[in-house]
Amino acid sequence: MRKVLFLDRDGVINKDVSYLYKIEDLQWVDGAKEALKLAYDAGYDLIVVTNQSGVARGYYKESDVQILHDYMGNELDKAGAPILRFYYCPHHKDGTVERYAVDCDCRKPKPGMLLQAIKEYNVDPSESFLIGDNVRDVESAEAAGVKGYLFTGTDLLSFMKIILN
Ligand SMILES: [Mg+2]
Ligand SMILES: [Zn+2]
Repeated sequence: MRKVLFLDRDGVINKDVSYLYKIEDLQWVDGAKEALKLAYDAGYDLIVVTNQSGVARGYYKESDVQILHDYMGNELDKAGAPILRFYYCPHHKDGTVERYAVDCDCRKPKPGMLLQAIKEYNVDPSESFLIGDNVRDVESAEAAGVKGYLFTGTDLLSFMKIILN
């Protein structure tokens, strides 16, 4: 079975600039690439789980999310921190785009994205953990039997070193 580091995206890997979808607006969190490499080198596969209600709100499209994730994935490959999979939830119950305006099972704090990953990639929840910058991230992890850590600082590398020790 795999051990996985689950990562929230906005506020953990990239700075949370609110409804990010353009590559030109992407700013990496300090130490993020190095932190992900450290976890990868320690034997964790890296999986992103991100709420992207901007799709349901009509701010951007799923194709925009995918283009951004392809770019981020390439940059992280180059940094020695390959992302196994990006999961995203495009839904929001109050969305304006009808087909995404549902009360889904994947929007955190619900554990749907983690549960799907655990099943698809044969993940051992007890050997895995999540880093998020919002309590709902930690709640979604705990609901899936995964330990969650709340990142509230600005340097992900120093945070990761503490967790891995
Ligand atoms: Mg976040
Ligand atoms: Zn969803």
